[in-house]
Amino acid sequence: MIPISEHIEAVMHDDTTDLPYLFLIHGSRWNLQIDAGNSPASRKRFEAAVQQAGFTLPGMIALTHWHWDHTFGMAGAGVPVAAGDKTAAYLHKAAQWQWTEEAMRQRLRTGEDILFCYEHMHAEYPDITKIKVAEPDLVFHEPLEFSLGDVHVQAVPHDSPHTRDAVFYYVPEDRVLLGGDAEYPDYYDYHSAYDVERLKDFIAFLEKLDFDLYAHGHDASPVITKKEILNMLEEDIKNPEPLL
Ligand SMILES: [Zn+2]
Repeated sequence: MIPISEHIEAVMHDDTTDLPYLFLIHGSRWNLQIDAGNSPASRKRFEAAVQQAGFTLPGMIALTHWHWDHTFGMAGAGVPVAAGDKTAAYLHKAAQWQWTEEAMRQRLRTGEDILFCYEHMHAEYPDITKIKVAEPDLVFHEPLEFSLGDVHVQAVPHDSPHTRDAVFYYVPEDRVLLGGDAEYPDYYDYHSAYDVERLKDFIAFLEKLDFDLYAHGHDASPVITKKEILNMLEEDIKNPEPLL
């Protein structure tokens, strides 16, 4: 595992299957996992890494947003999964999806799903009929705090440039903010570009929060500083369209 701060460890992301970093926040009483991974297999690899590093397995999983690479590992998790109400609504819809080649291609035509995910789902699942979308066990409508003993995790739902259901996890003792994919463009609803208004709102949201490190989903380094993320977002405002 990759140490992030005193109470946070990460397991490496994998671009070949779009698996994001998964995080363990470890407290004196219990441990919380942030994001479930893109399949039960990747979740199990995370659990093996947790045990190998000498930590207790997480007692709960909390989600940053509904995208498949962060949530499809929920199936069969055996621990409760917590999610914001918007994430729960998206997952409720995705739980009705059929997992056949024909149904997947139909969702590409309707825009319900996108090619990037279609391709990476095939890379993660040799048999796509095995995909199972689970729904969360605990749904929150407002900010919520997890007390792990000597460390606390504040779940803060807030809009992001990447999705409308983003939940941020703030660990005040470590001064770390876990943002999921929040700072990336919107691939589903905004043609992989930035909505400048949402970017500005996100910058104002981050400026108000008192953190040193920002942990994200898929980059070479799992964390960057508050100054670095704010500078990046200011650059994105100047170039909101994708470089495709
Ligand atoms: Zn995402």
